[in-house]
Amino acid sequence: MKIFHDISSFREERKQLLPTQKLGLVPTMGALHAGHASLVKQAVAENEVTAVSIFVNPTQFGPNEDLSKYPRSLEQDCALLESLGVDWVFAPAPREIYPEKESEIIFSLRSMDRKLCGRSRPGHFNGVIQVVSILFNIIQPDRAYFGLKDYQQFQIIRQMVNDLHFPVQAVPCPIIREEDGLALSSRNVYLSSQERIQSLFLIHTLKAIKQKLEDFQTVTDVKDFVHHTLAQYPLVKLDYFELLNDKNLAEVDSLTASSSPRAFIAAFVGKTRLIDNLALY
Ligand code: AMP
Repeated sequence: MKIFHDISSFREERKQLLPTQKLGLVPTMGALHAGHASLVKQAVAENEVTAVSIFVNPTQFGPNEDLSKYPRSLEQDCALLESLGVDWVFAPAPREIYPEKESEIIFSLRSMDRKLCGRSRPGHFNGVIQVVSILFNIIQPDRAYFGLKDYQQFQIIRQMVNDLHFPVQAVPCPIIREEDGLALSSRNVYLSSQERIQSLFLIHTLKAIKQKLEDFQTVTDVKDFVHHTLAQYPLVKLDYFELLNDKNLAEVDSLTASSSPRAFIAAFVGKTRLIDNLALY
């Protein structure tokens, strides 16, 4: 496995690929866990060559978010990636990606950044699109793998790939969970033992809604149920709960299978912000 910290040496290596060799990319911010590993395994299985990027992207963090304390474990990450059969790790410093301090590019995300995490984290998806398009330009993958834990992120990236005609296939990958259901996240390490227990609010609520779906008449009934459940979790502060159409993230007005509702939830457990989502059919 080769590790690259600069763009030019990566590009030299990239040039050696034959046109018949497909390149898979898994973009990450490091602090890797079994969720990342599942994306990597899929990429290794489907491509001749697999690259993983590790870059804690400053432009997708808001001013009061956890950029400086975001967990970093490059050595451990590389050992894991090597054991999974990864060929190339691209782990640049922020200056390599953003040589100019003022290099922010503004993208039009249409209405996508006005809902869910876009509303709670202004500028976040602009930063994501900026770094993913830069990584696509440097790494030039044939396929890129993204987890559906970040469902809205995947939809936005797929829209970007279409709008900008990137010759990349964006591949969605299933959510990987702990045995008790908590979605794996690099941020789970922030949770105290009490918070870890209360973090189950997210998946327990989503699963309860799916199980009891026939008991609810309207979307408002479901939202009332979420607020009612929240009362049992004193360490949790709800950021949002929404029922949106699976395909276009438009609001659904019925709970029937034909409107393809998916439940989206974000909550602060103590100071740690967690997200999850579940298809209801
Ligand atoms: P991150 O390092 O948090 O930016 O995540 C890198 C990629 O891993 C993104 O495409 C995430 O959606 C994906 N990912 C993170 N956690 C999980 C998980 N629990 N299951 C599946 N994919 C995940």
